[in-house]
Order: sequence, then C-alpha cells, then structure tokens
Amino acid sequence: MSKNYVIGFPRIGEKRELKFALESYWAKKSDFSEVQKVASELKKRHWSYQKDAGIEYISSNDFSLYDNMLDMAVTLGAIPKRFQDLNGEELYFAMARGNQNAVAMEMTKWFNTNYHYIVPELSFEESYKLNAAKIINEYKKAKQHGIKTKINIIGPITFLALSKRVDRGDTFELYAKILPVYEELLREIAELDDTITVQIDEPIFVKDLEPKVLSLIKPTYDKLALISSNIKIAVISYFEHSIEATKILLNTPVWALGLDFIHGEENLESLADIAASDKVLIAGVVDGRNIWKNDINATLSLLNIITQSVNKENVLLSSSSSLLHVPFVLQYEEKMNKEIKNWLSYAVEKLDEIALISKIFFEGEASLDAKEKALLSANIEANKSRKSSTLIHDKKVQERTSSIIKYAREGAYEERIKIQKELLGYKELTTTTIGSFPQTPEVRHARRELKNGNLTQDAYTQEMKNYIDNCVAFQEECGIEVLVHGEPERNDMVEYFGEQLQGYGFSQNGWVQSYGSRCVKPPFIYGDISRPKPMTVDWITYAQSKTEKIMKGMLTGPVTILNWSFVRDDMDRGDVSEQIALAICDEVNDLQNAGIKMIQVDEAAFKEGYPLRKAKVQAYEDFAVRDFKLSVSSARKETQIHTHMCYSEFNDIIATIEAMDADVISIETARSGNELLKIFAQVGYKQEVGPGVYDIHSPRIPSVEEIVKQIYSLLEVLPKEQLWINPDCGLKTRKWEEVKPSLTNMVEAVKRVRADIIPNAG
Ligand code: GLN
Ligand code: ZN
Repeated sequence: MSKNYVIGFPRIGEKRELKFALESYWAKKSDFSEVQKVASELKKRHWSYQKDAGIEYISSNDFSLYDNMLDMAVTLGAIPKRFQDLNGEELYFAMARGNQNAVAMEMTKWFNTNYHYIVPELSFEESYKLNAAKIINEYKKAKQHGIKTKINIIGPITFLALSKRVDRGDTFELYAKILPVYEELLREIAELDDTITVQIDEPIFVKDLEPKVLSLIKPTYDKLALISSNIKIAVISYFEHSIEATKILLNTPVWALGLDFIHGEENLESLADIAASDKVLIAGVVDGRNIWKNDINATLSLLNIITQSVNKENVLLSSSSSLLHVPFVLQYEEKMNKEIKNWLSYAVEKLDEIALISKIFFEGEASLDAKEKALLSANIEANKSRKSSTLIHDKKVQERTSSIIKYAREGAYEERIKIQKELLGYKELTTTTIGSFPQTPEVRHARRELKNGNLTQDAYTQEMKNYIDNCVAFQEECGIEVLVHGEPERNDMVEYFGEQLQGYGFSQNGWVQSYGSRCVKPPFIYGDISRPKPMTVDWITYAQSKTEKIMKGMLTGPVTILNWSFVRDDMDRGDVSEQIALAICDEVNDLQNAGIKMIQVDEAAFKEGYPLRKAKVQAYEDFAVRDFKLSVSSARKETQIHTHMCYSEFNDIIATIEAMDADVISIETARSGNELLKIFAQVGYKQEVGPGVYDIHSPRIPSVEEIVKQIYSLLEVLPKEQLWINPDCGLKTRKWEEVKPSLTNMVEAVKRVRADIIPNAG
C-alpha cells in the first residue's frame, strides 16, 4: 500500500483555466455555468493526476473559486451584514471583490507566503449557521470519479485567529459560537461514508501562541475527534514547527498529526512524544514551497531518522504543505535551459517524487518497476549535476564572499549628512517621488515587441529615452526637486535586476496563485549570483544628462530580491542575499562614479521576510541588515543613500530600520495620518524620513489643502529638517492624468507650508 499523503493541490489549472473562466464571467462575457464547468473539469483532472501518480490521501475541498478561507467563512455562515441580501455566486464574489453597494472584505497574506486570503469578519451579535453544501458536493463528485478523498477544512483555532471582529473585542470570545458549527459540520460529514478522513488545517499552531490560545486546543480536539467514530481527524500544520501544539494534541483522540520537517526542523524534537503515543505522523518531507527536485537520498535519511523514533507503521509520507505555493507542471517550460529545468520540480512532478519515495521507503528499492527505477536514477543524476554544475557554482563569487572585509560604508550618519547637505544643497521638505512613473500602454507594448523580436534594441532604447525625456521635463515643469528617471525600462522591480544577474532564472509558465484569479511568476535563484555588467548606469546617467537637478538612481535591495524569488535550497538564505548585496554594491559604486549623487535602494519586501517564530527573528534581522548595509557599503560619505519600504507599521522593527542606516527612508503613511510616524520620534530616530503624503493606490487626486494638512500633521511629529515630501509609493500603476495634477498639488502644498514656516523661503 502506498503510504503517502498530499496536503493540497493547486487549483488555478495548468493553463490558468480557472483564472480565465473567472475573469470572463466577471467581465460579463460568459455565464456562471461556464465557471462551474471549468471548475468541475479541473477538479477531476487534478484528482486524476494525484491518483495516477499513486497518491493515497487525496483532498477534496482544497479547490476554491476564490479562496479557502472565504469558503470556510461561507460554510460557517459568517456573512457580513452588508452582503446579507445576496446569495449564491453573487454573494460569494461580492464578499471577495465587493460590488457597487458594498466594499470587499479585506485580504491579507497567508502566513509567510505570497498567497492572500480573505479575512473573515465576525461579530458577537451575529449567529452562525452551517452551510456544508460545497464540502458535501465535492466529496460526492470525487467519489463518483472513483476517488475516496479526505476532506480539507480550516481548523477553528486558525479560523478564529485569522478573522477580525467588526465589533469590539477578541475573536476568541466567539469561540463558543463558532465551535458548535464545526461540530455540526463533522456530524454532516460523518453521514457521507462508512469511514472518512478529515484534514483540519491549523497552521496557526506554528506561531508563538499565547497561553489563552494554547488552552483551547485540547477542549477543541477532544470534542471534534469524538463527534463520530467513523471520522478520522488529521490536524495539519505547516511552514514552521508546532512543538507546543503537538504536545497538547497528542493527548486528544485525533487520529494523526501533520508536521512540516522542511521548514520546521524543530519538529524532530516531538518525535519521542509521538512515538510514545498511538498517533499517525504525516511527515512533511517533500518541500511544498520550493521548486527544486527533491534529493531522494537526503529525504530517505530524514525518514530514517523519523522512524528511528516513530514506528514505521504509523508514518505517512507527505508534502510539507499544500502544493498551492508552487507552479503547476514543468511540461510547458519550453524555453528554459534544459540543464536548469532538470533541477526543478513543480506540483505535478512532486506527486511523482512523493509516490516514488514512499515506495522506496516502505517497500524497498527492489520493489521498483523499470519506470520507477529510471525515475530514481534520473533524480540521483539531477542532484549530482546540481552539486557540481558551473552554472551554479562560481568560484569567483565564493572567494569574494569569503573575503569581505567591509560590510558598512564609511562615516557615521551625522558626519555624512553634514557633508551631503553642504554638497547637495537640498532644502527642508524637499520634494521627490519613489521612482516609477506611469507604465503606459506604449511602454508595455514596446517591451513586448522587443521580446517578440519585432522591435530592435536600438529602437526600444530610443523609445525609453523619449519616455525619460518627457518624465524629466514634467518633473522640472512641476517643480519636483529631486528627480527620478521613471523606471520605464522595468517590468518589475525584481525581475529587471534578476534578468541581468548571473545565477537567476525565469520561468515561462511558473504561475503561482497570489489571490483570487491573480497569479505571479516568481523568478528563481539557482546559482551563485554575480553581475556581469552595470545594470542601470546607462539609463540613470542619460536621465541625469537631461537635468541640472539631482537625479536619484534607483535600485532594488538584496533582501527584497531574495524575498520575492524562489531561493536555492542548497545554501543558507543569508549567504544568498550576501551575494546579491555584492552585486548591488558594485552597481552603487558604478553609479556614484558616473556622477550620480543620490541612490535609492528599495527594500519593499524587507518586512515580509520576517520569520513566523520570534526565536528566529534575530537571525533574519542579522543578515538582512548586514546585507542592506553591504549593498551600499561602496557609497562614499557624500553619496546620499535612500531606501523605500512599502508599509508604515514600524513599531516592532524600528531599531532594525535604524540599524540599516540609510540617510533617507521613504515610507507609506498617507492612510494613517501621522499616527504610525510617531515611533520614529519616540525612539529619537536621527536619519531623514519621507512619509508618504498621499495614497497612490487609488486614482483619486489629492487637493493642495489636504496635502498641506498632511504635511502639518507630519510636522507635529518630526522637525522640518528631518522631513522629505513624497507620495506613498511608486506611480507605475497610475495614469499620467492622475499623476500630473497630484504631484503638482504636492509641490504647491510644500510651497505653501514653506512660506508659512520657513523665514525667507523661496
Ligand atoms: N522604486 C519602485 C517604484 O517606484 C519602488 C516600488 C516598491 O517599493 N514597491 O516603483
Ligand atoms: Zn512602495
């Protein structure tokens, strides 16, 4: 018997069929029945893939038309009041996306992934009522298709932890209202079959939980596991270890525990306790979050360690998490370098790995048939080639990282800023922008045509230069003081650099669901990173040649490049980011040598990379700060280094931000007034700050008056000497018709404030 298990499968479809069906329906170009048809074909296809690969535990209800958390909210009857006169698909999509009368529910990141879930809204006065139709139907459909699935649901503790209260109070106060609905759900599920497995996802168990939350685990699972004797409950966590919750769950009547041994090695410490219990261990040993071929020998060793404690009979081999977080299938990567492609494994390939490893482990290598033997030797070969390929291992890079002696730039901030102020002569409340200007249809078109070979490199360059000319002219006209070139040549702030770095790969079809119908195609770092030649210098110096004012150079920082990519798993993340930092450091140097006086190194994803466990924060901050500083260590004292971060909540990390030691940081504050800036004043933050004065996420044009007001509220917190004035973030998603008046108003607002508060301001 194949003793293997897959936590969940991607649903968007190998050709993103679900995306296109949904978007066509939303655009009113097709009926909902078309969406249903596509969804039902996809479910069948995905079940078949898993069955054909030889997977024993296959899920139902891992499929969703938008999001599983939203599905769970609907199942529990947690429908916010503003949607209550709707029903069916209209209700469902209104909750997800809003409609003319009601704003959409909030969306936020699923743990440390780039998947976003819909945040359920709860309130004390609501009552919750079961609607199990989707779950029941999906189970029945799978059964008709010849597959007896396990049923996936999101567990009550995770559901409550990730929901929000619309009235005042803590979501856990609603425990007594929500749990009975779960009980009822299990009673309905129990009717479905003689025996049935329910996978209850409790990823919240991998966080540092408060005692109050921990204390709910035992009563919850004592109750749920005893609802019906024909239900076997598997409680699954992923992305980190869940040692504390595991201890408790072992004393409840659940059937199995699912633990992630890839991203939560500490789970090994639970093995002795698990061995002493009667529980089944669903061992997450095949990475569900990364795209590398499994190293089968290494996984077999890990399984051997596990089964030194836990009886082999009680072990199921599993993905470390749902495969939702990796692309679908390698088959469509037609353009990728063959050697690199041979190192990768997407969701469909991972099924084969899981099946193969479980066969070897439980039945012995002798049991493999010819096809499986070939698969195994191909795997061993691929791993060997990864260990030695010159595409991956670059001696020069390794020598360089092992001999870094200078991790930080010269001069303390006080000394640098004095020199910079004298030399650069910028004013108080200097106006600037975050970097990008509107990505017009023409710019996108030109980029596409260049890729398709319909536009020569020269013609493309000329078009971008024309854009830069106009962009610079506009900024001059409008009166912005520190200029940018507008980033027309960049499709994406990570991809642009990745494409020019050695050791970086791009997929053609490696789509991963980000939210709803939205997918992203993260690039991947497969080898040692180096920079064959300057990446931005031509553009920036060209832009500088068009103006007397200061042109700010624009780079993406090492930590952001790292956090927005799939990263090689044969090296420490910190070592990878160190290599990227060196490449950026060279770029900074080239820019300053070419006469660029201010350089912004964006760290939009700095906060996103924080570990789920507090105990691991220090290690992350250590390398993240080190590598940001390394990336600008070539800057001379007079070169002003800016950074930008796409959020405003700095309370927990202000010391770290300070330690990054950028001369100027721009942040997103427009929607929170001056509230979130206060922490900078509280800790006596010395460096200069550019808090966003208007929100760039909406097409709305801010008036002069409201920007004036915003500036005054910033001045309540920080002195004018320390403040820069800029929008919240880059302007690339906006239109010129919005950007022009908005920036003009911003400049006018600064004029008015200066006239009021600065003697002789001109
Ligand atoms: N310089 C980038 C831009 O303006 C920064 C974007 C970001 O931080 N997300 O587009
Ligand atoms: Zn931003």
